[in-house]
Amino acid sequence: MRQNILDLTLDRLSSWCSERELKRYVPPQVYQWLYSKKVVSFEEMTNIAVETRALFAEYFYIGRLEVGARHHSQVDQSRKYLFRLQDGRSIESVLMPQKNRLTLCVSSQVGCAMGCKFCKTAEMKLVRNLTQGEILGQILEVWRELSPGTRISNIVLMGMGEPLHNYDNLLSSIRIMTDDRGLGISQRKITVSTVGLAPEIERFANDSGVKLALSLNATTEEGRQNLMPITKKYSLERVIEACKKYTELQPKRRVTLEYVMMAGINDSLEDAKRLARIGSHIPCKINLIPYNEYPASPFQRPSEEKVGLFFHYLADRHFQVNIRYSKGLDVMGACGQLCVNPGIPSPVTT
Ligand code: SAH
Repeated sequence: MRQNILDLTLDRLSSWCSERELKRYVPPQVYQWLYSKKVVSFEEMTNIAVETRALFAEYFYIGRLEVGARHHSQVDQSRKYLFRLQDGRSIESVLMPQKNRLTLCVSSQVGCAMGCKFCKTAEMKLVRNLTQGEILGQILEVWRELSPGTRISNIVLMGMGEPLHNYDNLLSSIRIMTDDRGLGISQRKITVSTVGLAPEIERFANDSGVKLALSLNATTEEGRQNLMPITKKYSLERVIEACKKYTELQPKRRVTLEYVMMAGINDSLEDAKRLARIGSHIPCKINLIPYNEYPASPFQRPSEEKVGLFFHYLADRHFQVNIRYSKGLDVMGACGQLCVNPGIPSPVTT
């Protein structure tokens, strides 16, 4: 059985080549073709000997994700992709152009096991982890469609799934994203968002220098447990401790605290006060995300006035705080809206 070459780490690919006594310059050439030129076949690797290309093709293929649909937002410039995987499962990724950057929101799992009450992806439950090649594949497929000279500048692992729940594949794909021989995206342009798996946050702090965002979403133990069942396992205190460790090991980084605001649930001034208290314990910035509704969603978005009061409470206390109205709301591409029915293919629109 041939293997997806995008599932190999750069080291593994190099040792595969040396086991076959290929010249030392071959692996870097192959990386360049795969990740810099983003070719889709070995035949395109024209500076590699024909026999060597044939050898690669005998053992490997270059995995593709099939674009099932592209949904263009009418409101902002964002574009949601539905990708079909080889086993027929689907995932989504969202491309978000901003002033000086082009950010891709990438999925890490098909579905999600975390069960957060406010998130549509949770309804899918966990179907399976994505492979390294499938995580990277999302970036490669979207990048291939960009006009020449345009590049994806930022990656956020905020699509479907809990990235730290697919730790090994997440980490190995991040290594290729940040490696100069891979996609060459700087570590500070990559953000991993987590529901708060404390042991993995600590592991991650040791393993990677990319940015970390914590989906805090409530300011009391009880409040978090009501919204995010996984927090029964890792208390607020434990998670904040883990984030502190991250900032100690990665002194150049601050943790982003993400706070989805839901009307009547976590949007009071008391919440803002508690959030300020939590935020004072770690180097952080705060992103307030007004809740994105979806059909039959259980919560509502607070009024702009309420969001504004909450914002000012924090800003007045010198927190670096932003209100992040999500992009792609009209194409169900915003935070918390990603969901595909695993059994039913979506209609194709391009
Ligand atoms: N599992 C990871 C990665 C997903 S990121 C995590 O929880 O961080 C998705 C972000 O969108 C999270 O911060 C999540 O709290 C937020 N979110 C989920 N549902 C939302 C909704 N309906 N409206 C706004 N934000 C939502």
